[in-house]
Amino acid sequence: MARRFDRREILAQAGTVSAATLLAACKPTGAQTETSKAPQVRAVTRVLDSQPTIEGAGVHLRRALGGNALSLLDPFLLLDEFHSDRPEDYVKGFPSHPHRGFETVTYMLEGAMEHRDSIGNSGRLGPGSSQWMTAGHGIIHSEMPQQQNGLMWGFQLWVNLPAAQKLKKPRYQDIPPQNIPEIALGECVARLVAGDAGGHTGPVSGIVTAPQMLDVKVPARGRLEHDTPRGHNCFAYVFEGGVTFGTGKTPAHATQLVVFGPGDRVVAESVEGGRFMFFAGAPIGEPVARYGPFVMNTDAELQQAVDDYRSGKLVEI
Ligand code: MN
Repeated sequence: MARRFDRREILAQAGTVSAATLLAACKPTGAQTETSKAPQVRAVTRVLDSQPTIEGAGVHLRRALGGNALSLLDPFLLLDEFHSDRPEDYVKGFPSHPHRGFETVTYMLEGAMEHRDSIGNSGRLGPGSSQWMTAGHGIIHSEMPQQQNGLMWGFQLWVNLPAAQKLKKPRYQDIPPQNIPEIALGECVARLVAGDAGGHTGPVSGIVTAPQMLDVKVPARGRLEHDTPRGHNCFAYVFEGGVTFGTGKTPAHATQLVVFGPGDRVVAESVEGGRFMFFAGAPIGEPVARYGPFVMNTDAELQQAVDDYRSGKLVEI
């Protein structure tokens, strides 16, 4: 523990020590505190290939998080990229299915999906739009392509909820493209969906895990420095070109997931240009029990979710 010097003690020592020593003694804590607050660049701890997967009624996609290689990055449960111009890969969509206990986030790059739920909510998600849905107690919805051909490209992210909020009332945040600010981050351009970056705040609000979600475009020979709250877990998913991360310049190419270690700053560079999604969030630190579209804390709660779905009580509040 830093020693505090009082004025009389300093005066008593004044005849025997140098002025420099005295000055140092007079600010015993300040300099050290500033040093420990200097931004610490997060190191890359893992680079993982996303895996081809089939979901819904037969949608071909790539699972970057939530599969065998990395099942969980608290509070993040899943990240899928759907990217195909072959109608047979996506037209069957995601017919009616339930969710309870967490949040589903959709972010569209190309194409359009229609969302429709069992209590009458519906909406169209076009290019550049996002939907942050807090399933909470329960929703039953469908997510179906609004096109028979052409490119369908986007992401689905699952974010966990703490026990105290798993059964809260469902909430939708539908964000049209024009409401997602495009901001300058150093030499890069980012669309800011959630959280703070570069002095801006994204449109998604009131999420318990305080997430950051950005779509970052790094130009050729560009560099990014982005601050994330210390203690939050964070990862990037490269979906165009190639990007290096961390002071060690660990390379990652499109379809790869990059996991960061502790720290409070993420650095990225690109030689030829690249684009990635970036996510950060406060870890929840509770047991995770998951079964398909239900994510709870215990097996008994999962069984309850299944029972409630079968008996028509999932969407009751
Ligand atoms: Mn769903």
